[in-house]
Amino acid sequence: EEEEQEKDEDEEHDDKNQKKKRQEKGARWHEQGRRGGGGGRRREEREKDEDVEEEEGQEDEDVEEELEEGGDVEEDEDVNESLIETLKKGTSFGAPCYLENVLAKAVIDAVPSIEMVRFVNSGTEACMGMLRLARAFTKREKIIKFEGCYHGHADSFLVKAGSGVATLGLPDSPGVLKESTAATLTAPYNDLAAVEALVENNKDQVAAIILEPVVGNAGFIPPKMEFLRGLREVATKNSILLVFDEVMTGFRIAYGGAQEYFGVTPDLTTLGKIIGGGLPVGAYGGRREIMEMVAPAGPMYQAGTLSGNPVAMMAGIKTLERLRKPGTYEYLDKITSRLVEGLLSAARETGHAACGGSIRGMFGFFFCEGPVHNFEDAKKSDTEKFARFHRGMLEQGVYLAPSQYEAGFTGLCHTDEDIDFTINAAKVVMASL
Ligand code: PLP
Repeated sequence: EEEEQEKDEDEEHDDKNQKKKRQEKGARWHEQGRRGGGGGRRREEREKDEDVEEEEGQEDEDVEEELEEGGDVEEDEDVNESLIETLKKGTSFGAPCYLENVLAKAVIDAVPSIEMVRFVNSGTEACMGMLRLARAFTKREKIIKFEGCYHGHADSFLVKAGSGVATLGLPDSPGVLKESTAATLTAPYNDLAAVEALVENNKDQVAAIILEPVVGNAGFIPPKMEFLRGLREVATKNSILLVFDEVMTGFRIAYGGAQEYFGVTPDLTTLGKIIGGGLPVGAYGGRREIMEMVAPAGPMYQAGTLSGNPVAMMAGIKTLERLRKPGTYEYLDKITSRLVEGLLSAARETGHAACGGSIRGMFGFFFCEGPVHNFEDAKKSDTEKFARFHRGMLEQGVYLAPSQYEAGFTGLCHTDEDIDFTINAAKVVMASL
């Protein structure tokens, strides 16, 4: 561990400039042009290339080429091997561990709003911790959330929620005390005037404005720039904490999440999904002065036996390492926008109204005329048709997110061939709807 720690310290300087380097490398990748994916270069050929990797710059080029091709099975096996090695040393100690610090550092380096971070075991837990903290810090109780946004299954958030709640048409949930949701105010997404009115009518009572910076849980709904910037202003002006729930968008639409992508910095951020690399991890973080309220540094209590366990931390560390490789987000951008264009043109050719979009590894489409700016718009989509489409796609061998109210994700494992296969399947299924 000491050796690893020393290595980390050596790399500290590099890490500080990481974001800049990422941008430069991304730009270089762009300049070189998006060469069409060759698809499935054989393992022997890659191994042959590795012999000459020592030459300066060669490694980067190879990585870029592999990224263009999509699937990089060897790298993913690497992640699994690291997990097995970690497992052998013990799965859980009920105490902070070294790897927790490594992942914390990677998250802090990546996400603009995060100066301190606390790991938990899921996105739900992250949002619960964040909510308690926002209330503790501001000494206020009310929160504003948006219709169709989902922040996990904690009681306070089950009000006009998206995801499964929307899919199943549940208004709210039985078992949730009225008192638990009494302080949850809601507004339509992308509607700044509605938020301003709520803030005005609840002067000095609103602790936080919480949103998915790109909605994924009511289908894919991007924010208007003036909405995000407006929320930042309203929050600052009224001493309200602005919270981005980046459980979906974090490390998916940019390495630094939606806040890096849109250039709007919240006060607190919640994370999940990708930072666990497939294992159960969540996190909340933000400015030091707020996070220092969390026990044991401060009085706001939150804890978890398995939080920050070494195996889950290693999965996150290795996944983020993978995502830092040059060209990652450009590659996701390329395949995902091609996928959505293909789905929309399949719909057009077969006479179905449809609209949709994507940002990097996140996408969605609705069976209705656009634009879709909020949950009410999303509800105009023909969900019956989506259900038939979904079943048809399964028969063709393609598994899409199983609800009209869920965004889809692409990953580095998806190749150009996968995208072609999906578009062709969509053409077949749409023609039969
Ligand atoms: N927040 C958002 C934006 C989510 O998309 C989700 C899950 O889909 C959650 C919170 C809850 O995360 P988890 O399912 O890990 O509890």
